[in-house]
Amino acid sequence: MPTSADYSFEIAATAHSDVEEVLFSAADIAMRVAQLGAAITRDYAALDADELTVVGVANGALIFTADLLRRINLRTRFDTVRVSSYLDGTSPSAAPQFRSTVHLNLAGRHVLIVDDILDTGRTLSQLHSALLEHRPASLRTCVLLDKKSRRQTPFEAAYTGFDIPDAFVVGYGMDFAERYRNLPFVGVLRADRQVAGD
Ligand code: 5GP
Ligand code: MG
Repeated sequence: MPTSADYSFEIAATAHSDVEEVLFSAADIAMRVAQLGAAITRDYAALDADELTVVGVANGALIFTADLLRRINLRTRFDTVRVSSYLDGTSPSAAPQFRSTVHLNLAGRHVLIVDDILDTGRTLSQLHSALLEHRPASLRTCVLLDKKSRRQTPFEAAYTGFDIPDAFVVGYGMDFAERYRNLPFVGVLRADRQVAGD
């Protein structure tokens, strides 16, 4: 009979030939996500927030958001927005494209935006301004990764998983040309794999 340990991501996948370095293993991520969930739970409970509305930024933040939601011990509502900034490459296009908007009513609600990476800051500063127009009771942001050295638009997240240097990363929901999202770890993509394909 297999045991639950046999289904550990660590055993299933520790590396991938297109990844030059694993920055955070599945276990590293699980630990940090649990800590973020505990901090969010504690902070909003202290605010007496009766419910938290989580807005995940698709596609990149979907896996992070799925795991984080299960570590938040509050009543929650969940919605997504779709934003794309990198069409097929590894440098962001000038302006993030908002491809969908929230469906939930955010007025008077405590809202937490969840995204994968804070890079130049353009996406989150624009999304933050757009959601403020809904007049939420509070609006904060949680990101898994922060590349502080790349910031062009000032923006800080209330909750950050890990600070990382300027490198193009994939895995745990993050892609290159829609690939590698399924890797259970976060790793640096080999430079010779950062070429546009179909
Ligand atoms: P910003 O608007 O802050 O420059 O861009 C943030 C978005 O760019 C992130 O939500 C993410 O989708 C994408 N991004 C930034 N850096 C990386 C990276 O290293 N790898 C991947 N896969 N996406 C990134
Ligand atoms: Mg994104």
